[in-house]
Amino acid sequence: MTATDPIKIAIVGVGKIARDQHIPALANDPRYDLAATVSRSGGVGGVENFDTVDALLDARSDITALSLCMPPLPRFAAAKAAIAAGRHVMLEKPPGATLAEVRTLEALARDAGVTLFATWHSRHAAGVAPARDWLADKHVTRIRIDWKEDVRKWHPGQDWIWEPGGLGVFDPGINALSILTAICPVPLHLTAADLTFPANRDTPIAADLTFTDGEDIDASAGFDWRQDGGEIWEIAVETDAGALRLIEGGSRLFLDGAEQTLTEPGEYPDLYRHFATLVAQGQSDVDSSPLIHVADAFMLGRRIADDPFHD
Ligand code: NAP
Repeated sequence: MTATDPIKIAIVGVGKIARDQHIPALANDPRYDLAATVSRSGGVGGVENFDTVDALLDARSDITALSLCMPPLPRFAAAKAAIAAGRHVMLEKPPGATLAEVRTLEALARDAGVTLFATWHSRHAAGVAPARDWLADKHVTRIRIDWKEDVRKWHPGQDWIWEPGGLGVFDPGINALSILTAICPVPLHLTAADLTFPANRDTPIAADLTFTDGEDIDASAGFDWRQDGGEIWEIAVETDAGALRLIEGGSRLFLDGAEQTLTEPGEYPDLYRHFATLVAQGQSDVDSSPLIHVADAFMLGRRIADDPFHD
């Protein structure tokens, strides 16, 4: 392989996000060749498919990278096997079902000399980098996050999100936390969480979070899967020198009420651009800070019982 050859990559888990984002992003990126899939349900037409990660690793030594698009719980074993076989690994968010397993993967990748990229796609939304830059020299006084959507619309038939390790409403909510941890100029930590669990489910359908910077910031978040009508994915920040609003998942930015003109490379094309750079430079990029807030919410969370939820 020469430096200009495309990276032969395999997708593991061909579900909603693989079909909506990963496969189109790879098809449009000359740095990659989608060379195989691992899929229990058949994979992608015209691309060799394997039933297991081990079978792929045994058969295709030419594939140097795996993009793991399955739910968090089964991801650790696949990532560990890929790293042990000397392959680079890209992880969908969240990077693991626990913090400890992410640390283990990070150490394994370092020892094996391969790239591990724990992606946070929302950080690549067009407004996030300009928001971070604008906030960098300001004193933040208030942050309010509202991340509310209809679970029936966005997660139809996805049983894993309701099972332990599936994160429930934190599956989308962690996207907001990934933006928060990217743009906030001071570190925050959680001080309280109200977690609402349907009587028949193991993960929360709603969460209300309160954060502090140890000083005087007023910071809170509301995540809710019971949203009727349109979804709300918004972060509003007040500072000593003006106000910022990110809406539509970070894709639109307002500074003091004025919408900013943004360049839009696309979240997943930008993720794959970054992964190729990491591979070329022999580096990893693993930031667990959004997952730490989720773990803290489960540690500090007060449980509120709700009616059973049926799809
Ligand atoms: P999904 O539609 O349920 O697809 C996941 C796929 O992973 C399944 O179709 C299956 O593919 C494979 N899989 C392997 N082991 C599995 C298991 N034990 N249980 C269920 N599926 C298993 O889920 P998704 O929405 O694509 O989400 C996957 C990951 O992407 C999650 O971590 C999620 O947070 C993240 N993500 C999702 C979205 C979104 O809009 N949906 C957006 C950004 C990130 P095969 O049949 O091919 O084996």
